[in-house]
Amino acid sequence: MSNIEGKNIIIFGAPGSGKGTQSAFLISRFGLRHISTGDLFRSAIQNKTPLGVKARSYMDRGKLVPDSIVMGMVKEVLDVLPDFQGFILDGVPRTLIQAQDLKKIMDKLGRHLHKVLYLKLEKNLLMKRLTGRRVAEKSGHVYHIQFHPPRQSDICDKTGEKLIQRKDDQEEVVKERLSAYFRQTVPVLDFYRDQNILEEIEGEGAPEEIFLQIQKSLNFI
Ligand code: AMP
Repeated sequence: MSNIEGKNIIIFGAPGSGKGTQSAFLISRFGLRHISTGDLFRSAIQNKTPLGVKARSYMDRGKLVPDSIVMGMVKEVLDVLPDFQGFILDGVPRTLIQAQDLKKIMDKLGRHLHKVLYLKLEKNLLMKRLTGRRVAEKSGHVYHIQFHPPRQSDICDKTGEKLIQRKDDQEEVVKERLSAYFRQTVPVLDFYRDQNILEEIEGEGAPEEIFLQIQKSLNFI
């Protein structure tokens, strides 16, 4: 039994830094609950819920969804999570207000954050990674036209689904998303640096290598 199970972790980084990939490794290896605000919004959009309708207007333009909407949703998920169940937050907090709200929510629940894993990556590479990304919408499998192409162009190797480009992975929207990241999200790093729980991980390289680094940094919590 690993000492990572039951821990509460944030995976932090720009869009395209590999948060989703590394979260998938962590979940399957350590049984953590994955809480991805982007995924929650996309599923609300697919189900055409009022939350989805609201979120979509921001997401399609690469803007951040307002803090109160995001944190209301996160609170609902955390409130019903059993105490022993550790989690990995992916895509949140993205503003200082969200980071402060998260602390309040967790304090009330008697939980604390064990680590914030920051995947560091060059801006140019982020752009390339995002605009080249293709996804199988139903199954969630992710490809890249250059770095991880499917065997048959635009078809998922595993399910045969047609691959699509997320609207927010189009170049103009990506520019907006990255600018929101550098303007609104980067300041959150200092919030966690001051608490001594920030761990910087080099985000460029093979996903398996990066996962090894992550495991090393988590072994000491
Ligand atoms: P992601 O898949 O994490 O890149 O999220 C996709 C989009 O969902 C973002 O570009 C935002 O529009 C929205 N979103 C996801 N998480 C947040 C958050 N914590 N705060 C504000 N907007 C968010």
